[in-house]
Amino acid sequence: EAKSAGGNQWRLFDPAMQSGLEHRYQLEQALRSLVNHPDDQLSLHLQPQVNANNQIAGAEALLRWQHPDFGAISPGEFIPLAEETGLIVPIGQWVITQACELLAQWQQSADLAELTLSVNVSARQFYQPDFVESVLQQVAKIGPVANHLVLELTESLILEDIEEAVKRMLALKAHGVRFSMDDFGTGYSSLSYLATLPFDEVKIDQSFISKANQGDSSREWIIIEAIIGLADKLRMQVIAEGVESKQQQQALLRRNCRAFQGFYFSKPLTQEAFASLVTTQRV
Ligand code: C2E
Ligand code: MG
Ligand code: MG
Ligand code: MG
Repeated sequence: EAKSAGGNQWRLFDPAMQSGLEHRYQLEQALRSLVNHPDDQLSLHLQPQVNANNQIAGAEALLRWQHPDFGAISPGEFIPLAEETGLIVPIGQWVITQACELLAQWQQSADLAELTLSVNVSARQFYQPDFVESVLQQVAKIGPVANHLVLELTESLILEDIEEAVKRMLALKAHGVRFSMDDFGTGYSSLSYLATLPFDEVKIDQSFISKANQGDSSREWIIIEAIIGLADKLRMQVIAEGVESKQQQQALLRRNCRAFQGFYFSKPLTQEAFASLVTTQRV
């Protein structure tokens, strides 16, 4: 609006803010045009998830955007924009389609056939009227291995409408799809309502892992132990994310955490690099 009133109007803005707005606008435009041909610029990278024996048991799919002019744009920047604009709906649908195609492809390889694949789902995507239907359409392609697909939801997503969320989760679980609660412990009321939710797995947020120092009595360890104890009683798996050192993994193992993800094991990899890592490990 300021611009249509004349070029000089821009001077009313702080220059840093002006470029910030322009940058945001450009990104938004780029995101809009991307939706028509996502394969050109979007890809799913895979970060290994390992078990207590350090064997790869699965992966988390993490979206990567490579723009021809802007270069690599981080999810931390474009996911919030995609959520605000609603573009996360078609993008998220693309992610789930890709994930199911990948799971189908993995079935062709003895090394990859048993792996799980975790996919992040945004609130705006999850609460679309046709979300369940659209996921089931993709899941139909992988039939018997639907339980290799794990949808990661956050506490804030659940809290938007607990009743509806549970309804949707159960509808998908009836077809084998599994659920992981992402970034657990960062929300408000976590511990009390977890018992009422049909999650298969809880992901301890990386902020607890990164702040947990060696001393057993640090606040973070107390919380981590409480999460592991609770998940155990609820018969949910526990995975620690953001594990960056051997010391962290060992301290988590001592507390009975048996699944891990983080830079200590591997950063997110291209699908090719991931497949070859799994294959070499199995030799
Ligand atoms: P998230 O789901 O909690 O994913 C974990 C993030 O932590 C990833 O960042 C990953 O690269 C990073 N990470 C993994 N290991 C370590 C570690 O040891 N140390 C540290 N410091 N970080 C580690 P990334 O890929 O930048 O993704 C950021 C967020 O963007 C994700 O957080 C998720 O909320 C969102 N996101 C990514 N892909 C998708 C997607 O396909 N759909 C939706 N809706 N959101 C996505
Ligand atoms: Mg995640
Ligand atoms: Mg997370
Ligand atoms: Mg996170």
